Amino acid sequence: MDATETFDVVVVGGGPAGATAAADLARNGRSVLMLDRAGRIKPCGGAIPPRLIEEFGIPDHLIVARVKSARMVSPKSRKVDMMIREGYVGMVDRDVFDEWLRNRASIAGATRRTGLFDKLTRDADGVSVVHYHDGGQKTGKPVQVRARSVIGADGAISAVAKQAVPGADKMKFVFAYHEIVKSPQAGEAAKKADFDSTRCDVYYRGDLSPDFYSWIFPHGDTTSIGTGSMKKGFSLRGSVAALRGVAGLADVETIRREGAPLPLRPLRKWDNGKDLVLAGDAAGVVAPASGEGIFYAMLGGRFAADAVEKFLVTGNARALATARSRFMRLHGPVFWILGIMQRYWYITDGRRERFVSICRDRDVQDLTFDAYMNKELVKAKPLAHVRIFFKNMAHLTGLVSA
Ligand SMILES: Cc1cc2nc3c(=O)[nH]c(=O)nc-3n(C[C@H](O)[C@H](O)[C@H](O)COP(=O)(O)OP(=O)(O)OC[C@H]3O[C@@H](n4cnc5c(N)ncnc54)[C@H](O)[C@@H]3O)c2cc1C
Repeated sequence: MDATETFDVVVVGGGPAGATAAADLARNGRSVLMLDRAGRIKPCGGAIPPRLIEEFGIPDHLIVARVKSARMVSPKSRKVDMMIREGYVGMVDRDVFDEWLRNRASIAGATRRTGLFDKLTRDADGVSVVHYHDGGQKTGKPVQVRARSVIGADGAISAVAKQAVPGADKMKFVFAYHEIVKSPQAGEAAKKADFDSTRCDVYYRGDLSPDFYSWIFPHGDTTSIGTGSMKKGFSLRGSVAALRGVAGLADVETIRREGAPLPLRPLRKWDNGKDLVLAGDAAGVVAPASGEGIFYAMLGGRFAADAVEKFLVTGNARALATARSRFMRLHGPVFWILGIMQRYWYITDGRRERFVSICRDRDVQDLTFDAYMNKELVKAKPLAHVRIFFKNMAHLTGLVSA
């Protein structure tokens, strides 16, 4: 390793976004450096849709649980079970999942290093220089490499985005926190807690989250119990303790407690107009209302890789902007609708009660799962859309009570 080492692409961050981008570019024959600070498991519920499993070739052994239903719980403790009629939602443990993705990138030919990104500068000839600390700690030896292009995939509080893309420092977040506990064993303990290892429980209660939701996601031997909120001063730990009490999981062994910010909306610009583009949480792509980010991070990583490839071939920096435009064309409308849903339904317990009540509807269940599982609205069922529209209007205008 010397100061003049040059890569076609330096990918900062080896999470789902960065590892996907690095693997794709290495497969194209590009020289890729994938830098990750390592040493921390990404706090995450780990729920992934079948579309991700298929599109990104995720092997069976990474799926630690297969979820067949979601239980929506209202402020008045009404429960609506939404059954997944075809397929399942996969659950992954992020320590194993992310490491597998990074290893796949390295097998594809990417150079993988543990390093803490520090800053970006430019050489006299205008080529980007990426500075990092070897070993992933600030105390590590400073190293610099030249990069014909850079992908910033270093997560929600992205140092790359802050330095290179105007507006990134103004990103807004939901703060999410969860506790990883030992799953109750089948039998008495599970029965007492009403725990089902194939069901995700989603709580809509203002006392547990004033503006988001709380969850219990099974992961085989372990379970993630968490919540999120934008509200400063709201006790996420207190909320999870309360949820554990409500769910009969107060006494199960706690393995880890951890939290992280979730970006609220995609940034307006993902590239620097020269040689750098963002992907995943660094670009703000987490679905509002659900907090789903893994699929969008991997797709964003793929689109960033395509955009960089085009840039390297043509030298035209405008190619970098195609990562965002492609992504928003495909998923912008759904993000927009989910944003409205979050702002409308997650505000008062009265509305939450109605929201859970709407979930009883078979059309709503089918369309919700179709949209989540396959990441497209089902055009084959126009009448169901119309029916849902009128039912929604009836609820919104108060014609139907909870
Ligand atoms: C509590 C919680 C629960 C969630 N549950 C779900 C869920 O169930 N399903 C779902 O789809 N999404 C969920 N999400 C969202 C999902 O975790 C993220 O959207 C996803 O991880 C984004 O991937 P990424 O690659 O963009 O970023 P990250 O996964 O954050 O990866 C960023 C990588 O960059 C590295 N890095 C950061 N800074 C530096 C630096 N300075 N130098 C070098 N490397 C650096 C990190 O080590 C990390 O590996 C959840 C999030 C939270 C916080």
